[in-house]
Amino acid sequence: MSNLSETAKVVIVGAGPVGLTTALGLARHGVKSIVLEKKATLDPHSRATLIAPSSLEDFQKLGVLDAMLLAGARNDSIRIVRSSDCKELLEFDFSELAGETPTPFALALSQDQTEKILLDAVLATGLVDVHFSSAFASFEQLGDHVLVRDAAGRTFTCDFLVAADGARSGVRKQLGWELEGKTYATRAILADVRIDMEFDTKQGWLVNPDAESFTFAIRFAPGIWRIMEASVPDSVTDADLLDRSKTQCEAMFGQGAWQETLWTSAYRKHERRSARYVKGCVILAGDAAHLNSPAGGQGLNTGIADADLLVQQLIKALSHPAEARMLLADYEQTRIKAFDEHVRGLTDSMEKMESAPAWLRRIGFSMIGALKLAGIERIVARKLSGIDAS
Ligand SMILES: Cc1cc2nc3c(=O)[nH]c(=O)nc-3n(C[C@H](O)[C@H](O)[C@H](O)COP(=O)(O)OP(=O)(O)OC[C@H]3O[C@@H](n4cnc5c(N)ncnc54)[C@H](O)[C@@H]3O)c2cc1C
Repeated sequence: MSNLSETAKVVIVGAGPVGLTTALGLARHGVKSIVLEKKATLDPHSRATLIAPSSLEDFQKLGVLDAMLLAGARNDSIRIVRSSDCKELLEFDFSELAGETPTPFALALSQDQTEKILLDAVLATGLVDVHFSSAFASFEQLGDHVLVRDAAGRTFTCDFLVAADGARSGVRKQLGWELEGKTYATRAILADVRIDMEFDTKQGWLVNPDAESFTFAIRFAPGIWRIMEASVPDSVTDADLLDRSKTQCEAMFGQGAWQETLWTSAYRKHERRSARYVKGCVILAGDAAHLNSPAGGQGLNTGIADADLLVQQLIKALSHPAEARMLLADYEQTRIKAFDEHVRGLTDSMEKMESAPAWLRRIGFSMIGALKLAGIERIVARKLSGIDAS
């Protein structure tokens, strides 16, 4: 073991929400960790804007829920309303889950703010060294410890290495594992827009049933909305995104509503996971382990559930090293089962709805009364809550 190597019980690659939640969870149990992040600062983009009840329960245990509630907008239910007249179409009521979680509500909060709150909490513990501009390069499993190198040649020694380095995980690549599964044919685009406060509404999420492509808008701060077009042709290029965001904004909110587009992004949607999550003392979590369409909000939230269970298993493994193998195998099986049983199905049904031709979607909207009678609101609220997948 090199004397120059920095040492901690756990090294975590990636200061995204999953890496930071893992570091915070370990620190709450008094365990020191090192976080390596290739970027110089946290990512400034909004990305996941809805935190599900199950993740809020985890954040409450970690002592960061109050800060998140101050920064975000609490949603006891999600009302889906028609953009033209704010008529309610559906309501997903989380308060019905009150007997099952202490946090029966969702929180609209942009991911950059979630990460900032987590980072502040992590640093305040005094037990986590966060190294920005430190890109993971390689690891070696050496008996009872792991030697990690970053791109600058620095070395770090730990008992366990957690790969929370996102979908293109370098740790996973060194293990020789791919994210196996499918990439859907359709692309989605999103735009965060600032609208004139005169057009702002707290009535609910807006959906435009008449739009050619499935389009909806989520309010995540006063006057700031995420507009998503869930299925656009490849002929829509990055150069079109700004103009398209203005057009969609005015179609949803009315002429004169658009003030500024803050961020746009176009992406393909996937349903993929690694066949394995654990090899020896190296463990995958979050997007490094699985990837799904952001529709349904299961990307961030599944990763937070990974971090929650992983922390519990690592704490036990550190005090009972002989059981580490069994504990990590349990983490792998549990989290793979949760993804296969709860995330894959939701991703597939959301994709079917999003990519359906406009005429078929319109028929679906015209049958909403029947869907309500069939209890669809309760089923969707439960799915979105993440309770069964955590
Ligand atoms: C445009 C967009 C919209 C989205 N919308 C939603 C949504 O509405 N709802 C939802 O639930 N999810 C959404 N997601 C997905 C969500 O953002 C991810 O699921 C979530 O960020 C996963 O967290 P993570 O910590 O596992 O990985 P990431 O957030 O990807 O974090 C990984 C971190 O590792 C770092 N890293 C990578 N390689 C290295 C290396 N070699 N060395 C050191 N550090 C490294 C990265 O810089 C990054 O900071 C969206 C994603 C995008 C891109």
